[in-house]
Amino acid sequence: MNLYDLDFTALEALFASWDIASVHARTVWKWLYRQCPVDFAGMPNMLPQALRARLIAEATLELPVVVDSQIAADGSTRKDLLHLADGQRVEVVIMRYRHRHSACISTQVGCACDCRFCATGQMGFVRQLSATEIVAQVLHAQRTLAANGHKLTNFVLMGMGEPLLNYDNTLDALRRVCDPRGMGFVERRITLSTVGIVPGILRLAEESLRINLAVSLHAATDAVRDTLLPVNRRYPLDDLCGALKVYTDITKRRVMLEWVMIDGVNDTREQAEALVTRFVGIPVHVNLIQLNPTPEFDAQPATPEAIDAFSAILDRAGIPHTMRQRRGAPIAAACGQLRRRSLLEETGR
Ligand code: SAH
Repeated sequence: MNLYDLDFTALEALFASWDIASVHARTVWKWLYRQCPVDFAGMPNMLPQALRARLIAEATLELPVVVDSQIAADGSTRKDLLHLADGQRVEVVIMRYRHRHSACISTQVGCACDCRFCATGQMGFVRQLSATEIVAQVLHAQRTLAANGHKLTNFVLMGMGEPLLNYDNTLDALRRVCDPRGMGFVERRITLSTVGIVPGILRLAEESLRINLAVSLHAATDAVRDTLLPVNRRYPLDDLCGALKVYTDITKRRVMLEWVMIDGVNDTREQAEALVTRFVGIPVHVNLIQLNPTPEFDAQPATPEAIDAFSAILDRAGIPHTMRQRRGAPIAAACGQLRRRSLLEETGR
């Protein structure tokens, strides 16, 4: 049995079935999530001999293995390919900034949402990631940074997949990494990004976990959003904005709106004005992101002039926004560029 498959309650139940006091479950849990061990060699000394022997005989510590890595020339971004037990793969992107270290984590292999400009969408849906596979990516980022004397300070669920279509596993994973008895990750340093799954947003509003929510909006009229994000036909903008109003009312937290700037498609005055109209009175922060090229989407990033004009309209309306820094493009690790086979294909292995 893989100890990383258990949440704290299950670990405690296992130890109880072995007649082991629950205080030892706390010690083991802390060791698992603070040291991120890959074998039993460094087990804490304070554990009883009987427990140590039983763990070695009956338990395992299995996390996905890194099979390939790419590091950007300036060292600020790396992309690691993790091999899952069934041969599927996910990519974890680790980014170093001046005062923080962040990771981009996946929640599914592939994605069913089919957003036109997104490489993951273009590959289709393969399978859900388990809670353990999601946690493993965070542990991997943590361990990689720790090896260089750094600490993972933030992470975003913006890798492959739609987290709110893998709701239970995603929330399980987040509860596990935030559990103060173990890793104790700070909730407000986690951002979950969704394409706009309305029932998931409403459910998330009721959770006690105080993470940040980002919504991939990309267009403020149904006509344009329908063409970019097929999911909009299921959850049109009126429903989505209604859910975000409920979410911000309940949580009192600002929602981030992601907006990929595509030349002549959604970088227009009309779209900026529609965005303003829809979000007056809802606390949002707009993140403008330059479009990253992907194989099956024939469009160009917005021009600097279009970005300035768009941003001026938001400014006048008092809508806070930032143009997000572009990272990882040279190693195909930028937003929307993660794709299962890319790393091996690019390196020719
Ligand atoms: N399914 C979630 C999270 C994964 S995508 C979501 O849709 O939010 C993470 C972010 O990258 C989203 O905002 C997505 O719209 C954006 N993205 C996807 N493809 C992109 C591309 N080619 N260029 C720039 N951003 C892209």
